[in-house]
Amino acid sequence: MKIAVLPGDGIGPEITAEAVKILNALGEKFELEEAPVGGAGYEAQGHPLPDSTLALARQADAILFGAVGDWKYDKLERALRPEQAILGLRKHLQLFANFRPAICYPQLTGASSLKPEIVSGLDILIVRELNGDIYFGAPRGLREAPDGPFAGAKEGFDTMRYSEPEVRRIAHVAFQAAQKRQKKLTSVDKANVLETSQLWRDTMIEVAKEYPDVELSHMYVDNAAMQLVKAPKAFDVVVTGNMFGDILSDEAAMLTGSIGMLPSASLDKDNKGLYEPSHGSAPDIAGKGVANPLATILSAAMMLRYSLGKAEQADRIESAVKKVLEQGYRTGDIATADGKVVGTKEMGDAVLKAL
Ligand code: NAD
Repeated sequence: MKIAVLPGDGIGPEITAEAVKILNALGEKFELEEAPVGGAGYEAQGHPLPDSTLALARQADAILFGAVGDWKYDKLERALRPEQAILGLRKHLQLFANFRPAICYPQLTGASSLKPEIVSGLDILIVRELNGDIYFGAPRGLREAPDGPFAGAKEGFDTMRYSEPEVRRIAHVAFQAAQKRQKKLTSVDKANVLETSQLWRDTMIEVAKEYPDVELSHMYVDNAAMQLVKAPKAFDVVVTGNMFGDILSDEAAMLTGSIGMLPSASLDKDNKGLYEPSHGSAPDIAGKGVANPLATILSAAMMLRYSLGKAEQADRIESAVKKVLEQGYRTGDIATADGKVVGTKEMGDAVLKAL
């Protein structure tokens, strides 16, 4: 099995190195091949997603991605900026299903901004559609408003679009994920206002007939935002579109204490996927050896479970992460009064030892 390793920029190389260390210790015959991406791709080959990196990503069974971006590239034209690499990979590889688990480990309840009793034991999964919606819908642009009270003024416009097959495919992914958990699926939309959301809801209800063991409910996005901070443990799996998912998954991330703990997976129709921490390249702490590698290590665990068919190895890694938290190891972002603050490498070593 071939794994493309794309460390990227900022803390990307530091945290990816720790995940690679863990993968290499599992006793499996993985072939790991590294390639530059993001700012590193631009420096090496003049493009954030060099052709050779894209070719490797296509050829591999799974992709382990660090993070991309640095302030020093902010002046480059948009097409050459590091962030285009991740958008390009999602588009070229048709990675349409984004999985973001939000788990609040008991040892870290104090690190959350919510009361411990609200988040303790939290384990929810957000499934976000990644290829459609207002982020990609055409037409879009800037123009002179053709009508309305502000006719003639400069206006911006975007188009929210979802086709039925597009909703169907993410619905199947979400129902199947719910089947493997508590069998409760909440579909989040804005069907009281948006036609796109009405189609979304109707399609979810249709697909639900194929999954009688899963309990489907619907929630408007504004209410979902409220419920996520009021009673987050009432959710099991949440499925939603690209924009609502973007916002709700960051909200859910904060329930757990630190974005440095949150892995993610972006899958295609055959479960080939790109696995990355939910955070960015953290240029403010890059090179200091203090970044939390656990989100990347947990992303590697998701890769084993979803793309490589090695669920028992994923369990081993997740148990090892729980163990180091129990032992009191903490990077700065999750520091608690009773914890032992360590750097990136020491945290990786502790997981390795626990494994
Ligand atoms: P960020 O996630 O990089 O950082 C936000 C804050 O969280 C910072 O204070 C950072 O130090 C901290 N942080 C993030 N990850 C951490 C970790 N593992 N351990 C400890 N602390 C951690 O977001 P940002 O500052 O808004 O963006 C920085 C760069 O990352 C930008 O160029 C942005 O475009 C890019 N970005 C990339 C991705 C991606 O690669 N998928 C995602 C988001 C942002």
